[in-house]
Amino acid sequence: MQAGFALATPRQPIAALPQRILLLENSRAYTSMLREALDQRVQLPISIASTLAEARELLDRESDWFLALTGLVLADGDRDEVIDFFVERRLPTIVVSGVYDEALRERALQQQIIDFVLKSTPDSIDYLVWLVQRLERNRRISALVVDDSLSARSFIASLLAMQGYQVSHVADGQSALRMIEADPGIRLVIVDQEMPGMDGIELTRRLRQLRARDRMAVIGVSGSTDTSLIPRFLKNGANDFLRKPFSREEFFCRVSQNIDQLELIGTLQDLATRDFLTGLPNRRSFLENSEKRVSHRATGDVTVAMIDIDHFKHINDSYGHEAGDRALRAMASVLSVHTRPEDHCGRFGGEEFCMLIDGLDVDKSLRHLEALRQAVSELELDIDGRPLRMTISIGASRRSPQFDTLHKLLGEADRHLYLAKAGGRNQVRGLDAG
Ligand code: GH3
Ligand code: MG
Ligand code: MG
Ligand code: MG
Repeated sequence: MQAGFALATPRQPIAALPQRILLLENSRAYTSMLREALDQRVQLPISIASTLAEARELLDRESDWFLALTGLVLADGDRDEVIDFFVERRLPTIVVSGVYDEALRERALQQQIIDFVLKSTPDSIDYLVWLVQRLERNRRISALVVDDSLSARSFIASLLAMQGYQVSHVADGQSALRMIEADPGIRLVIVDQEMPGMDGIELTRRLRQLRARDRMAVIGVSGSTDTSLIPRFLKNGANDFLRKPFSREEFFCRVSQNIDQLELIGTLQDLATRDFLTGLPNRRSFLENSEKRVSHRATGDVTVAMIDIDHFKHINDSYGHEAGDRALRAMASVLSVHTRPEDHCGRFGGEEFCMLIDGLDVDKSLRHLEALRQAVSELELDIDGRPLRMTISIGASRRSPQFDTLHKLLGEADRHLYLAKAGGRNQVRGLDAG
């Protein structure tokens, strides 16, 4: 049994990911439809060429090419020349063809071409946009392949790498568990059933103890015809199952569907828990998180702070509502920076924010909130050449036998906020005497 793992593709910093898309196609009408659809939904620079010569010139001029979409009927090259052109350049490529030709399709798919899409299908444009978005996002998703056979796991890893995923592969369950524990970024695991030691179903069961199904997709694979395998995989926490041998397209469809689903769940969770304007946790989410901290752990220092921007109505009135929104976002980002991993913050509503500080005594809490107040007062936004500055008032409270619920802590913090406003604003109240 082999242990250890190999990285099939090196991890790149996100900033270094190539951006450009090349559309090579001689039909103006199709190109402009596709371009318009991509422009609307993909924030990447798109270049258009209608001949191989033009494509060559564009590709040589810039360097950060991410993807090519190409037709096969060009004035200066036949189908084979077009496919060879891209394969030689090792540029990820999608073939968009006007005609269905099984032999051509097979040749294209053998040649590391990502996909072969028929132009004439009614929703080919929608499919292509989805595919480009999928491939673009895949580059930020880590996947792990677990298979005891080196050739099998290399093959699956190469399919995933072709779709842009950051792929690692390991030969056994123990190594897989270690990797998942060490890397919370892995969102997809392909698990072979037949492995010496721990089998795929057992590995799936143990993976699930580490990561929920809405955080990481597990797909079982097996060459066995045993019909009980699929339900056993699924009951032990797999999101899906693929029988070997599978085609490249089947594999891609299944994997994409599962990743789409993870993203959708993530978006739904965000919609329910995030404030739309600032991206901070919303009031309900702040209350839920903080309630857990206050009620589940009866000991330790807890400070609750209510934070309110001073004279915000005036900011709106003199700079406009949009500038007000920018100020709220700037405030939110300063607040995030001052929120340690053990703390919680949120937008309570309007220009009111809140924070729960976990584990700092009175003095340290005061220093922490003073630093926040100071940082906000030093912000300067440029609104069409006019500087916008703001201050905040903070009211705080400390957990004690008298203030032993979140509700009471918030009430007491709010009372001190009122005192901070009355006392001249731009100040922290409630932690003074300890
Ligand atoms: P104080 O110093 O006493 O807190 O005065 P203030 O003007 O900040 O307080 P007030 O509660 O009177 O006004 C808050 C303003 O915040 C009123 C409201 O129009 C504005 N506001 C609330 N939500 C938003 C928002 O999402 N965007 C913008 N631009 N303004 C908002
Ligand atoms: Mg095996
Ligand atoms: Mg205010
Ligand atoms: Mg207010």
